[in-house]
Amino acid sequence: MKVYADNAATTKLSNTALEAMLPILTDIYGNPSSLHTVGQTAKEYLEKAREDIAECIGADAKEIYFTSGGSEADNQALRTACAIGARKGKKHIISTKFEHHAILHTLNALEKEGFEVTLVDVHNTGVVTAEDIANAIREDTCLVTVMTANNEIGTVQPIAEIGKLCREKGIYFHTDAVQAVGHIPVNVSDMNVDMLSISAHKFHGPKGVGVLYIKKGIPVKSLIEGGAQERGKRAGTENLPAIVGMAAALKEACEKLDTNTEKLITLRDYLINGLKDIERSRINGSLEHHLPGTLNMCFEGIEGESLLLLLDARGISASSGSACTSGSLDPSHVLLAIGVPVEIAHGSLRLSLSEDLTIEQMEHIVISVKEVVKYLRSISPVWEKIKSEEK
Ligand SMILES: *Cc1c(COP(=O)(O)O)cnc(C)c1O
Repeated sequence: MKVYADNAATTKLSNTALEAMLPILTDIYGNPSSLHTVGQTAKEYLEKAREDIAECIGADAKEIYFTSGGSEADNQALRTACAIGARKGKKHIISTKFEHHAILHTLNALEKEGFEVTLVDVHNTGVVTAEDIANAIREDTCLVTVMTANNEIGTVQPIAEIGKLCREKGIYFHTDAVQAVGHIPVNVSDMNVDMLSISAHKFHGPKGVGVLYIKKGIPVKSLIEGGAQERGKRAGTENLPAIVGMAAALKEACEKLDTNTEKLITLRDYLINGLKDIERSRINGSLEHHLPGTLNMCFEGIEGESLLLLLDARGISASSGSACTSGSLDPSHVLLAIGVPVEIAHGSLRLSLSEDLTIEQMEHIVISVKEVVKYLRSISPVWEKIKSEEK
């Protein structure tokens, strides 16, 4: 049995998105910047996609900038706020220890350019509070950036509250909503955000395309210079097939949000019930404010990598954390940030579901994880030590 349970890394393109893209890949080949009819037809599709996406997140079409994905949107958001901050002599940024590397590595680069960064600790529930952010705010803070939902543990942050605080203090607020959009309700005005990042391939859209929402009135910094596309803020001929596919996928995800959420929670609860009784296991992050389809667990005495390989041999695609950290032997920075001890963080497993999965497939995961954990522990010196210390 095949079970793809790594939807936080990427998702399968939906049929709706594919069907929307096909005519753009064949007939609607014009350049939206061209003045002739062929170009203008392409432009109509581009602007319709912009309007559809804006509507899904409660924004105005003029506030939507197309990018090459979530990473570029994150980079552009941070660079935009910092360019404004620098002009006013404000060079302090607040973020959290469990952000995606697209944020953390951009912050590293900004530090080298003279910005000061405060990374707020995350509670062991996997949540950062508005109070934590308030305590870090200084006179010279120019930007707060906190992710809406964490990509490894699935916890959802109190974005609206943090946004309200930032608005009161006159500080720009960005959120990386890549894991949230299409999975939980996202509305830029309810959330009090100034900037928000989106990536299509996390909600059954194509890869290599995303959106940066920037609130009207904020002077946007361009990362790529060239032509006047995206109102001069992102040069390069638009990836129209991908943009149209993204809009179709997002519309569908938003329309089906309630039914998909219900399905995902049923599937995830099946996994939790099946796996929670494994000896010396834990669920990472509180399930109280959480994405419906993500579950992250640790099993003491085993290596996450071995677990993944043996699950893969049984047809199950899962992850030990983010795709970006897999392949390195360091434990996940997210698990360390929420206080999971290093030796336990090594034995992590992230199962991220899609609404098209079935209970039979969940059953296959439960049986396989139990067997593989049991097998790996039977050959693990670490597990032997844990057991001998129990006595
Ligand atoms: C996947 C992801 C990104 C990166 O998006 P890309 O489109 O792959 O560049 C950024 N942030 C989070 C939280 C993600 O899950």
